[in-house]
Amino acid sequence: MQIVTIIFVVMLGISTLVLLWLAGRHIRHVTAHRQQVPADFVQVITLEQHQKGADYTVAKTHLQRWQTVWNGLVVLAWTLGGGLQWIVTQSEATGVGVLWQSVMVVVAWFVVSDVLSLPFEWYRTFVIDERFGFNKTTLALFVRDWIVSLVLNMIFGVPLVAGIIWFMTSTGSAWWLWAWGVFMVVQIVILWVQPVIIQPLFNKFTPLTDPQLQGRIQGLLQRTGFAGSQIFVMDASKRSGLGNAYFTSFGRTKRVVFFDTLLAQLTPGQATAVLAHEIGHYKHRDIIKFIGFFMVVSLAGFGLLAWVLPQAWFYQSFGVLAPQMGAALVLLLMVAPIAGFIFTPLQSAFTRSIEYAADAYAVRHTDADDMVGALVALYRDNAGTLTPDPLYVAYHYSHPPGSARIGHIRSLGAENT
Ligand SMILES: [Zn+2]
Repeated sequence: MQIVTIIFVVMLGISTLVLLWLAGRHIRHVTAHRQQVPADFVQVITLEQHQKGADYTVAKTHLQRWQTVWNGLVVLAWTLGGGLQWIVTQSEATGVGVLWQSVMVVVAWFVVSDVLSLPFEWYRTFVIDERFGFNKTTLALFVRDWIVSLVLNMIFGVPLVAGIIWFMTSTGSAWWLWAWGVFMVVQIVILWVQPVIIQPLFNKFTPLTDPQLQGRIQGLLQRTGFAGSQIFVMDASKRSGLGNAYFTSFGRTKRVVFFDTLLAQLTPGQATAVLAHEIGHYKHRDIIKFIGFFMVVSLAGFGLLAWVLPQAWFYQSFGVLAPQMGAALVLLLMVAPIAGFIFTPLQSAFTRSIEYAADAYAVRHTDADDMVGALVALYRDNAGTLTPDPLYVAYHYSHPPGSARIGHIRSLGAENT
């Protein structure tokens, strides 16, 4: 056994155990606080609602533990189990050119991996969300969504992968810089068109025209330079009762989207505060920050790919007999996240800081009590836990926990008055 193989198996084992341990802590912490609504929420959340949040969180975290184990086994099956080598052998047997052999390997890996994760998606939707009364989707819609996503991935993915392989074979030693440049352009174009071309394949988006809200938000829009035509309501309720709101894209397709499920629960003042939070993400250029971050990470990824591409030891360490361009791409996509698992808490801390900043923006431009009210409604109606495990939060949470956000907003509101 090669040294790299040993490091890989050990790293995979450690990352799996750490994820299981964190999830176990989370379950125990939430369960231990199940009997008591946290002091800050006694006025606004009933014990029954609090316990629903605890039970929903525990159910989802149990599923996540099974998925962690499953994902580890799937990576082992692809690599040391010979799954990827089997696909490489099949692709060579087709007799097509080297470029298309590589594309076939990547596509086959992607489709099989997608199918292997589908049972978890199904269980989350039709067993857990169903039990807690959130599921609104049907099996027909679920299957339709999966097929549409797969077709979209093929439409964008196949030319992209074929392009990357072409650069490898045709543009000399600096191929990876060219490939990275084209890859980034494609990613940015996809981000830019997805609100107008891709997302409408899944949901209906209607401009927000609530007359009560229009009056309230005019001032906010004028102050921030955001146009009313960029605020949409999405029919999320056709799949799920869970509510949310988000800001996406940049330039002319940028927009704030409210789930109809969230909007139905908020007062006009609270909806205005949520809108201000999302506009805060725009004002702080958070999408641009993420693009910048992604550029750096993907440049490192392409550099790494260029380095391992001709090295026989790289393939043999992960169960592939000989260098193959498609296999190199797949191996890196599977193995790099295992080493990258130590960076997840850094990324989570970064996104949490972005959320605090957007909350601060909302407090400056609207009302602190409304923002608190909106968050309480969000946690109550989505059965989000109010008592997560601190270490689990530090590792996984992209948003600060509810109590931390509300404490932060209250402290800012007090400063303003
Ligand atoms: Zn946010």
